[in-house]
Amino acid sequence: MPVLFFGHGNPMNAIQSNAYTEAWASIGRSIPRPRAILCVSAHWFIPTVAVTAMERPRTIHDFGGFPRELYEVQYQAPGSPELAMRVKSLLGDELVLDADSCGLDHGTWSVLCHVFPDADVPIIQLSIDERRPASGHYDLAEKLWPLRDEGVLVAGSGNIVHNLRAYDWGGGDIEPFESGLRFDHRARELIVSGDHEPLKHYERMGSDALFAAPTPEHFLPLLYVLAIGERDDKVSFPVEGFDGGSISMLTVRLG
Ligand code: ZN
Repeated sequence: MPVLFFGHGNPMNAIQSNAYTEAWASIGRSIPRPRAILCVSAHWFIPTVAVTAMERPRTIHDFGGFPRELYEVQYQAPGSPELAMRVKSLLGDELVLDADSCGLDHGTWSVLCHVFPDADVPIIQLSIDERRPASGHYDLAEKLWPLRDEGVLVAGSGNIVHNLRAYDWGGGDIEPFESGLRFDHRARELIVSGDHEPLKHYERMGSDALFAAPTPEHFLPLLYVLAIGERDDKVSFPVEGFDGGSISMLTVRLG
């Protein structure tokens, strides 16, 4: 099973049809059908390691100020308490099984509603533990490698460059900021060469990294994907481009 990092960008992608959403749909048609999906989304950034463990995760509309149509989206993919238990066996006792309070946030459903439009593949979501340094997320995720051979699609959803202060909310087709372009380019080079060390410590990558990830949560899902990549995985970038000048929509596929 390949591993995928999706740049999710604006939640409106959930109800739009554009170059990004068409590319996501085409990824869904090009990969083997997974038995289940484990998604790490930027929008579940909490002080613990938790996984959704309910049969029917609800669709969480975790944003404000968007059209009503977006709040009406229901992505009713089943959960998988069984996969949640499997993840617990891999990650150990510190993992909290969340059987009732959470669900799927828009980092997960705004993309997967295009990749798997029939909502028929079970999904669980893994939280991002805000107490860990970036390298600690990579180390944790390495324990998840057996899932690939078990037919589970491990996906991360965030953005390699995500700077909302610089973002053009007017929807104009503005030129990307140089800092963001440079960081996106450098991240690609490191991913292609399999040199993950600088990305595990991206905070030390200078001012371009500071522009790209002024807060960590949209960058960290990438580390979960890289951590379970293998040396002989083919690396590709099936979606690329910048939205609003400061959000990289880069998708990374390993395998
Ligand atoms: Zn987001």
